[in-house]
Amino acid sequence: MAAIMAARGQGLVQDFDFFVVVDFEATCMKDVRIFPQEIIEFPAVLVDGATGRIESVFRRYVRPKHHPVLTQFCRELTGIRQEDVDGGVELGEGLWMHDSWLKAATAGAWSLAVVTWGDWDCRIMLESECRFKGIEKPSYFDRWINLRVTLQEAVRAAGLDWEGRLHCGLDDARNTARLLVELMRRGVKMTITGSLAPPPPIQQKEQQPQLLTSPCGGSSAPSLIQQKQQQPPQPHMISPCDGTSATCFCYCRVPTRGGVVSVPGPMQGKCFFGCGNWTPAMGPVCPYFVWTN
Ligand code: AMP
Ligand code: MG
Ligand code: MG
Repeated sequence: MAAIMAARGQGLVQDFDFFVVVDFEATCMKDVRIFPQEIIEFPAVLVDGATGRIESVFRRYVRPKHHPVLTQFCRELTGIRQEDVDGGVELGEGLWMHDSWLKAATAGAWSLAVVTWGDWDCRIMLESECRFKGIEKPSYFDRWINLRVTLQEAVRAAGLDWEGRLHCGLDDARNTARLLVELMRRGVKMTITGSLAPPPPIQQKEQQPQLLTSPCGGSSAPSLIQQKQQQPPQPHMISPCDGTSATCFCYCRVPTRGGVVSVPGPMQGKCFFGCGNWTPAMGPVCPYFVWTN
């Protein structure tokens, strides 16, 4: 593993003063994608990059707006009770409280990196909900260390057992923090493993985003960087829309993504536009879908 440095048995100097380990829990249903999915537990564990000590722990429950009543499946999966989210804060407030906690706990002196288990927390969940609700999030959530990438087999190698309840956000964050600490102790140098597109340069009014040409001759979604350069759509622009215009946005409020059916069958060769947040690993975030021909 490239990130593992030779110095075994002793901690390396890390690039970051602090690591903040997060593990969001969100609304969910059994076997069905819930839309829009919303964060319901926002936990964070702060690890000192020099000492490997867990310095402070943060947790807020977050009240979902679109599916305020948790499914039984979700309650059982996460251990989160209905009254927890009923008494929770809104996501924007949770982000603000987290930021205040972080500033106080690090005395404002931070080079810090967010640490997660998987890319879902920062690339999909927080990013899509903030876009969808028009919430501004601190930029430190725009890049992260996915410990899964860093360690892979190291969990077993470290001889660690998962403590507490799986899918309890705080237990998951605590366990991820334990792994982080163990890896640091064993001489693993932590490096950023994922990031969102860089912040947009200031755009001239007359400058049109350059569009990719889809195999169907229409305009497909601009690339991720180009998406970020566009102004967020006004609500009336989101849908209905036939997907063929460059100004079409899916329900996530990002430009739609064009594609062609490659699977043999009656729909092969047909063009469509779908969710702009589609990724090979996760599929679409929202159910937006239109045929173009
Ligand atoms: P995790 O961090 O792995 O505990 O999961 C984060 C979120 O992903 C959970 O709060 C759920 O919203 C969703 N999730 C995880 N596992 C499942 C599952 N088996 N079925 C549906 N949703 C799930
Ligand atoms: Mg998780
Ligand atoms: Mg979890």
